[in-house]
Amino acid sequence: MKNLFSLKGKVAIVTGGNGGIGLGLARGFGGVGGEIVIAARNKDKTTKAAEELKNDFGIRVLEVELDVRQESQINAMASKVLDTFGRIDVLVNNAGISIAKLPQDLAAGDYDEVLATNLRAAFLCCKAVYPAMKNAGGGKIINIGSMTSIFGGAKLLPYGTSKGGIVAMTRALAVAWAPDNIQVNAILPGWIDTDLTRRGRVELEGLNERVLARTPVGRWGEPKELQGTAIYLASAASNFVTGVALPVDGGYSINL
Ligand code: NDP
Repeated sequence: MKNLFSLKGKVAIVTGGNGGIGLGLARGFGGVGGEIVIAARNKDKTTKAAEELKNDFGIRVLEVELDVRQESQINAMASKVLDTFGRIDVLVNNAGISIAKLPQDLAAGDYDEVLATNLRAAFLCCKAVYPAMKNAGGGKIINIGSMTSIFGGAKLLPYGTSKGGIVAMTRALAVAWAPDNIQVNAILPGWIDTDLTRRGRVELEGLNERVLARTPVGRWGEPKELQGTAIYLASAASNFVTGVALPVDGGYSINL
């Protein structure tokens, strides 16, 4: 059973893996033997996260400076991973941002920025790793959605549009690449305490109270609480699971 959830000998790319949920997931993969690629913009943050992973888990970690809005950088990242490790087994599309404004105040550029980072980039990363996964006989892709994949928020139009799109994209890819033994699934995290939501608590009035009141477990989640689900979806344990969008939310999405 232990082997079912092992990532020993596997290589996992985590976009935005230098902090928050991404680093939490990278730590989960490291804990079950996976080698990690951290791909994000802030070099200092990435180096700090890579050192932490190497020290704590004794694994190899590749740092890639990547702006996911740039297709050429995404393709260069995939090449660098193949040059370094010779394989890509897991991709987590985690990099994400939000611009919180009412719809009437949003500029086209705000919308484009969020969609380019959260949705277009995820598609391009999937496309970039596909040849390696297909040639290797399979792979695992995990896309990070959100409660806004299901619910609307007044100041979350571009964010929610991107996260709804993540679920639709996950289903399309799951169907298209099932014959290649590539499983594509989404995790829909509930409210997790990170830099993103610390900003959200400032920008979205009453958010903290609403989250605490609606989440049946009565608290915010921590990045490490997504590790079990991510390991499951990244490992052989989920080989017959594809196209799902799994809430990991302390019950937020099933509470009336
Ligand atoms: P953080 O703000 O802590 O992390 C976001 C990460 O994305 C950073 O590592 C950042 O790295 C990276 N990133 C942002 N823009 C780019 C870019 N253009 N190119 C490359 N990397 C980029 O937020 P979270 O950890 O909370 O969020 C991670 C994911 O989880 C996001 O997709 C978010 O939407 C999703 N999520 C979060 C929830 C929560 O409650 N926290 C709930 C549901 C979903 P850098 O700045 O170095 O590039």
